[in-house]
Amino acid sequence: MSRPRASVFAAHASALLGVLALVAVLCFHFPDLLTSRDIRALYSERFARTLLLAGLIVAFVLGTWAILRDQHRRIAFVGLAAATLAVFLGGSDVRFETIEQTPYSLGLDWFILSLLFTAMVFVPLEHWLGRKPLSPLRPGWRTDLAYFFASHVLVQFILILITASTTWVDGLASWPALEAKIRALPLWLQLPLAVFVADLTQALVHRSYHRVPWLWRFHAVHHSSREIDWLAGSRLHLFEIVTTRALVLLPLLLLGFSTQAINAYVIVVGLQAVFAHANLGLRFGWLEQVIVLPRYHHWHHARHPDCLDANYAIHLPLIDRLLGTYRMPKDDAWPDEYGVMELDRVPRGFLAQHLMPFRGDRRYDDHIP
Ligand SMILES: [Zn+2]
Ligand SMILES: [Zn+2]
Repeated sequence: MSRPRASVFAAHASALLGVLALVAVLCFHFPDLLTSRDIRALYSERFARTLLLAGLIVAFVLGTWAILRDQHRRIAFVGLAAATLAVFLGGSDVRFETIEQTPYSLGLDWFILSLLFTAMVFVPLEHWLGRKPLSPLRPGWRTDLAYFFASHVLVQFILILITASTTWVDGLASWPALEAKIRALPLWLQLPLAVFVADLTQALVHRSYHRVPWLWRFHAVHHSSREIDWLAGSRLHLFEIVTTRALVLLPLLLLGFSTQAINAYVIVVGLQAVFAHANLGLRFGWLEQVIVLPRYHHWHHARHPDCLDANYAIHLPLIDRLLGTYRMPKDDAWPDEYGVMELDRVPRGFLAQHLMPFRGDRRYDDHIP
């Protein structure tokens, strides 16, 4: 790594860790408002304090180093200032307030943990094994980070909407005999079956998002990224997140899949959706035919007339073969360009993109086959 790149990395990593540490200290002060009960169950207080201490130390070390090198001082200063404020507010010894029961809360802890660990895995992987050289701070990263932030912080509200819609429809139909048969299957059989059913539903919903003009207005947001990496996959309209997740979950509930199988599927889809967008040039050979890997989903994002109706699956290419929408070049080719066909149709920024589907003065049907 050359010196300027090392100091860019140090300054931005310091800023990221400093800000996340500050937010983490605030989570300790206001746990009932800023953290969700479901997410708190995933980690211990000791783990959170150790992570906070490590984050503070690394933020101070990298920020000081960047400033001493006289590189990206303003960014590094943000990291140092945020980390210092976090220490003044209690640091890793911050007093733990008692948690009151509140009907609604944010998922800031979910945002911190998810961003930290996903970045720790994918930033180095994409740096060393990237299909093309691409900085994590490529154009549009702020917009994508805003999407990542919103979809994590609003996790409880998203789950409430999904649960409400699925419970309502689930109550209308039941096939007790079929449900009992599926529930009796062992988990190792239920999981692949759940993945197949969910991916078939997901691909059909996804295809509708491409082919129905008013739905495309929402999905065009996801396809507006000009660069595809692990963070670009976060760019999804909140309406699309809720509707797709609810519609995909519904057949799993109606068919009687066990809670463990559904929870395991949710983990699989979370990991595979990030991985499929990653800028990773690894060759996977025959495995590309069996499971969705980055090159497969990158062709879905290709800015090319032949790829407007292609590769809707997010787990199994088999689904696209069944739907007749499978497209993979025989050679190891990757798309030349990503994005919607008429680039100026989609505005920039989280808010403008969220309002876009409700504005009647633009046409967004350029990407529909
Ligand atoms: Zn799509
Ligand atoms: Zn995508």
